[in-house]
Amino acid sequence: MTTTPLTLDEIYALVYAALRNAGSNDVNASAVSRTIRNAERDGSHSHGLFRVAGYVKSLKSGKVDGNADPEIIKVSPSTIRVDAKNAHAPLALERAISALAELAQAQGIAACAIVRSHHFAALWPETEALAENGLVALTGVNYKNWVAPAGGREPIFGTNPLSFAWPRPGKSPLVFDMATSAMALGDIQIAARDGKEVPLGTGLNAEGKPTTDPSQIANGGILLPFGGYKGSAIALMVELMASAMVGEAFSYETALTDNNDGGPPPGGQFLLAISPAILSGNPQWSTHAEQFLAKLENMEGVRLPGARRHQNRLDTGPRDINSELVETVRELAK
Ligand code: NDP
Repeated sequence: MTTTPLTLDEIYALVYAALRNAGSNDVNASAVSRTIRNAERDGSHSHGLFRVAGYVKSLKSGKVDGNADPEIIKVSPSTIRVDAKNAHAPLALERAISALAELAQAQGIAACAIVRSHHFAALWPETEALAENGLVALTGVNYKNWVAPAGGREPIFGTNPLSFAWPRPGKSPLVFDMATSAMALGDIQIAARDGKEVPLGTGLNAEGKPTTDPSQIANGGILLPFGGYKGSAIALMVELMASAMVGEAFSYETALTDNNDGGPPPGGQFLLAISPAILSGNPQWSTHAEQFLAKLENMEGVRLPGARRHQNRLDTGPRDINSELVETVRELAK
């Protein structure tokens, strides 16, 4: 694979131009460009520049409104609903996070339902931002039904990522962010593009047979949940919380209505934010947690989730991006 170096500013500028060309206004294009630049900065390659073509397709097909003005509706003292109004998720999320953080800091716990949003990114930006406000955060989204439940061969779940973040005053938060499928769909597509195999147990081909060929999974096949029935249960939880709980569609329902333009389908997202300072009643809550985390970090062979990304972030230099991908995005940005 040949690569082309791009600075973080160049990444932002290319994405912004591509989205503006496709009809996004400044605020929507800026929010998506920040999300993609930060994904490349942190090494979240499956949700960086790789996604630009899909974002553009969804604007051009009219599925996503690049001029949408997501609205925050306060439902109760600790609940907000965000109507993304068919925007790409980043602008809705930026607005949701500050409103949600304010409620959770006042009430101890707050929840946010996001509807009519098109999520095509990693989830850590939202949990990490809440944790940077001193809050424990949890979020999940569903997608289109790509994943069979444990024991089954028919897809019913999305790849249903789940992200959790824990605040660490003075340090980067502890964050995990993972698809509940054995592999994220973006990674399957990247493996197919790069001609690489995936581990057995990742998915089945169109005949329902286990395969290590990612293109057989991506084209007519299905994914499996991680960790057998245990991962399947977590995928089930995310499916319920990101759809019926927030008033949005299940992944199989979304698949029936999506225009399959290659961009993100419409859907829901839940966000929970909890104040450990209020809930524990212990002014020393973070010192207590840090003692525990220090034990983990000091165990041989162990690293905290999120540490790889935070290490990548320290490098402010150019990123080596797949050259074909750079050309594709440059064309869109012309
Ligand atoms: P990974 O399997 O790469 O990583 C999952 C988590 O585990 C990360 O938080 C990672 O931290 C952590 N981790 C990885 N290796 C270790 C280790 N050795 N020790 C401790 N922690 C570790 O993620 P996935 O491939 O499952 O998901 C990739 C992305 O895809 C996610 O950001 C997810 O949100 C996104 N996604 C988005 C969807 C959408 O519809 N918008 C759908 C599905 C997935 P670190 O990052 O530091 O490596």
